[in-house]
Amino acid sequence: MDFATALAQRVSDVQHSLEEATEGRYPAPRIIAVTKTHPLEKILPLASLGLWDIGENRVQEIRDKQPALPPSFRVHMIGRLQTNKVKYIMKKVCLIQSVDRMELAEMIHRQACLQETVMPVLVQVSPAGEAQKGGIAPEALEGFLRALSGMSGLHVRGLMAVMPHTDDTDLLDTLFFQMRCRFEQMRDLAINGIDMEELSMGMSEDYRLAARHGATMVRVGSALFGPREYPM
Ligand SMILES: *Cc1c(COP(=O)(O)O)cnc(C)c1O
Repeated sequence: MDFATALAQRVSDVQHSLEEATEGRYPAPRIIAVTKTHPLEKILPLASLGLWDIGENRVQEIRDKQPALPPSFRVHMIGRLQTNKVKYIMKKVCLIQSVDRMELAEMIHRQACLQETVMPVLVQVSPAGEAQKGGIAPEALEGFLRALSGMSGLHVRGLMAVMPHTDDTDLLDTLFFQMRCRFEQMRDLAINGIDMEELSMGMSEDYRLAARHGATMVRVGSALFGPREYPM
């Protein structure tokens, strides 16, 4: 089987699993195909499958790949972002999913104002309050969102989370559920200028659980493309 055929099969499998997993309680989440480390020829076949959203986690890789992509592809920045590199991706990505500190939010706001644009972002939340995973601690989230609501250069569209690596399905189930609750709580605050439309959670290992708990986006890499082409 050639790569494009295998990819079509995997996409279809993931889509079916997502629909099943929501048990009719939520719309099936959108797939963000995580293409980091994979070359252009593996990304292009996504177009004929209707998958236009791709996730990348390195600024240099975005700068290399984005100019060669057909314009209908939308690049999502999903990795830790250094403030001094923000300026390079402002016009190249549709959404920065990994806003995890005030310094970064301020830099995005500043660059957006300079470039006369508004950058859509998600706020990355640390699901279990583990500092090393990156993300705003749950108890600090409301204050962080209120601070960002005053920044005209960025537009908060929702929340993102990276779950811990674990086989403990009960723990993951709890963490996804808590994220969904938090997302709804923040939505219900109706903070001026802050939208809560997107909840980005779930990866190759756990996208079914994420869908079950109302993710609106899942970020799926290896389940579509196989192992990464080089270690990250
Ligand atoms: C790499 C990555 C993913 C996708 O991981 P897979 O396990 O390959 O699906 C999702 N989210 C983030 C933030 C990543 O860095």
